[in-house]
Amino acid sequence: SRLSIAIDGPAGAGKSTVARQVAGRLGLTYVDTGAMYRAITWKALKEQVDLRDEQTVSRLARETEIRLTPGKDGMEVWVDGERVTRAIRTPEVTSHVSLIAGQQRVREVLVDKQREMASRGGVVMDGRDIGTHVLPDADVKVFLTASIEERAKRRYRELVRRGYKVDWEELKEEIRIRDEKDRNREHSPLRPAEDAVHLDTTGLSIEEVIRAILDLSRS
Ligand code: C5P
Repeated sequence: SRLSIAIDGPAGAGKSTVARQVAGRLGLTYVDTGAMYRAITWKALKEQVDLRDEQTVSRLARETEIRLTPGKDGMEVWVDGERVTRAIRTPEVTSHVSLIAGQQRVREVLVDKQREMASRGGVVMDGRDIGTHVLPDADVKVFLTASIEERAKRRYRELVRRGYKVDWEELKEEIRIRDEKDRNREHSPLRPAEDAVHLDTTGLSIEEVIRAILDLSRS
């Protein structure tokens, strides 16, 4: 199948869980674009480059090999052959990723990589600008939302499940700030595409959200 499905929305709306399972059931490749911005942020922090230096960061992005592979518990993420699946979820990376994602030249490099990944065949891609910019011709576009309380709750459970220590109030604040930055940035801000189907997932189970997207993919 060469179906392409774009799933956008704010942090913690459940995009990655849902996108991964929809991909699995339809036999499509899942691409987590947030993991790619995180991967570059992780590497830039490790190499101690000036994160505001767009030229240096975009060169670093171009020279970095990012691979996403299916793992037993979600996606495995690799940077230049090193597994960074956990390392890209630390509070340090999370708090710096918006700074990197706000840079136009960095986005161009990653968007090229994302389109190349999609060109190989059917794909479910999640992020912030997939329906509006990366895959404007996607067959299905979904904009997932949920209340901030609900999103914080999901993120909290997810992080605890993965073994991270998290503070509830800090987490909520972090999500609020990151959304605000993603919505208000100059380049490819978080926006629903005009032809996206809006899905408020507050109070819905993961299975219900998956079914809704599978239904859209059949019509
Ligand atoms: O999806 P996730 O929360 O892991 O994304 C981390 C960050 O990467 C977002 O807060 C956003 O700044 C950036 N991002 C983006 N465009 C995408 C995916 C993620 O700017 N397509």
